[in-house]
Amino acid sequence: MQQELTIMIELQRLDNLIADAQEKLDNIPEYLETVRNEYTQVTADFEAIDGTYGSGDSEYNKISADYEEHKALLEKANKKLPEVKNNKEYEAVLKEVDTLKKNISEAEIKLVQLSETNDAQKKQYEELKGKKAELEKIVAEKEAQKNEEDSELAGKLKKYLAERDKVSKGLKKSILTKYDRIRNARNNLAIVRVEDETCTGCYIKVPPQLYVEIIKDTSLKECPNCQRFLYFKKDEEEQGE
Ligand SMILES: [Zn+2]
Repeated sequence: MQQELTIMIELQRLDNLIADAQEKLDNIPEYLETVRNEYTQVTADFEAIDGTYGSGDSEYNKISADYEEHKALLEKANKKLPEVKNNKEYEAVLKEVDTLKKNISEAEIKLVQLSETNDAQKKQYEELKGKKAELEKIVAEKEAQKNEEDSELAGKLKKYLAERDKVSKGLKKSILTKYDRIRNARNNLAIVRVEDETCTGCYIKVPPQLYVEIIKDTSLKECPNCQRFLYFKKDEEEQGE
């Protein structure tokens, strides 16, 4: 195989590794994104509760105060009953007792309801608070993991770039420029194999005469459709990783 092709194939291998490392560095991995999203959701839920948390307390206190007051009044009214002088007064006190009893009973129901609501809210508040703290820890762990991976990737990337620099020196400047131009224009892929008379970059069949020339391997050939450099390799000579 022409030496320039061999060099370009190696260059392409490095460029694939570089692009892969770069992409991993730029992307937020799923394991981090998932836990970040979960944390955002729990934080929003928590803050929604946090804003209203305890708002039932003042209502509870007010009803509770009324309840105690009515109970005291009822006691007083009950004591008054045996001392009444006439029927009219008796009925008036009885009516007062009834009203107070009704108020007290209503307040009791309301207090139980409010207490249940407050307890449920408090439970939810505590649960979300705990979950939020737990997720905060996990997010920090996953971020540390990503940082570790990034620093490893950055090391590899540096190594690949240095190798690329070295390998590319084996090419004539004009060919390297062309290689890079095609690579930039064609999805990071500048040199591809011809298989079954087809360019594996754009999957267009190459003209028969060109195909013969590529197999002859005497000068650099490009795909007439995508302009990528083309080379031929028999199937049994699979390109090593
Ligand atoms: Zn092509």
